[in-house]
Amino acid sequence: MLKICGKVLESGSKLKCSLGPEGYPMPVTLVSGKNPGKTLLITAQIHSGEYAGTPAVIRLANEVDPDMLDGNLVLFHLVNITGFYEGMNAYVPEDHGNLNGCYPGNTDTVSGRIASFFVNEVFPFVDAVIDLHGGGMNERLSPCLFYPGANDDVRKKSIEIADATDIPVFIMSRSTTGEVGYAGNILGIPSLLLERGYGGMYEKEWGDKYYRDLRLILDNLGMYHTDMVTACEKRDFTEAIYMESADNGLWYPAVELNQVVHSGDYMGKVEDLYGNILSKYYAQADGEVMYYRTSMNAVKGHNLVSYVLY
Ligand SMILES: [Zn+2]
Repeated sequence: MLKICGKVLESGSKLKCSLGPEGYPMPVTLVSGKNPGKTLLITAQIHSGEYAGTPAVIRLANEVDPDMLDGNLVLFHLVNITGFYEGMNAYVPEDHGNLNGCYPGNTDTVSGRIASFFVNEVFPFVDAVIDLHGGGMNERLSPCLFYPGANDDVRKKSIEIADATDIPVFIMSRSTTGEVGYAGNILGIPSLLLERGYGGMYEKEWGDKYYRDLRLILDNLGMYHTDMVTACEKRDFTEAIYMESADNGLWYPAVELNQVVHSGDYMGKVEDLYGNILSKYYAQADGEVMYYRTSMNAVKGHNLVSYVLY
């Protein structure tokens, strides 16, 4: 049996519905397995221009057989639905709130109420959280995932789930204000933020790979069997640098995805609109580029290059 957000499902049943704070219905599938087990929350598109997770969640929602499931699934197909239809890269258009930075939320803004809804109505009833992202419209990105590093127990349990996926790079996160950061680092729920795809695009390969990741995770949690296995080698990084622009201007990157950089290597420049150099960027340590800005508009305080440290 699954009881959540005012819904009650008998064991061995599935319900397609809408859930969310008042006035903000999000498409959801709830699945109550025939046998007891863990309750897993999966969310897609808290950042509305990061598409690859949604088709995978919809496919899982449609294909999963409740009679073969141990435990429960709480599947949010598309969280930032107003941003999706407004063509927003990431933020909630009503207040420009970032659902990966506004937890635990509030009652004053739409993004705050969405975060508060998850904190109060969803997180207390789940055993693990998987949140599906991708590089946004402004960037290219190499598949990676973030796990909470606040305490040994949640870190260990999160990495065990991560090991089941096909994602090759793990990055420890100390964030406490995102969905996964709050669930993992504040509430101690094993959680992962997965990243696949980029550029405000959807490619079938990315959705298919996300579907595989989800099936592998469900198998790992003892919830839903698959014969799929992962042969992907993993690397774990505890430190990363998120290099921000010091200026507004034109951004000219000089890095590639997965490029190995050494301390002092040139990474790009920002010029003003007359061609004068405002700032040049150099690697501050040895590492590897995981994602970088591809759009030309450098915005002060916004990310230019992110690289994990060796
Ligand atoms: Zn994102």
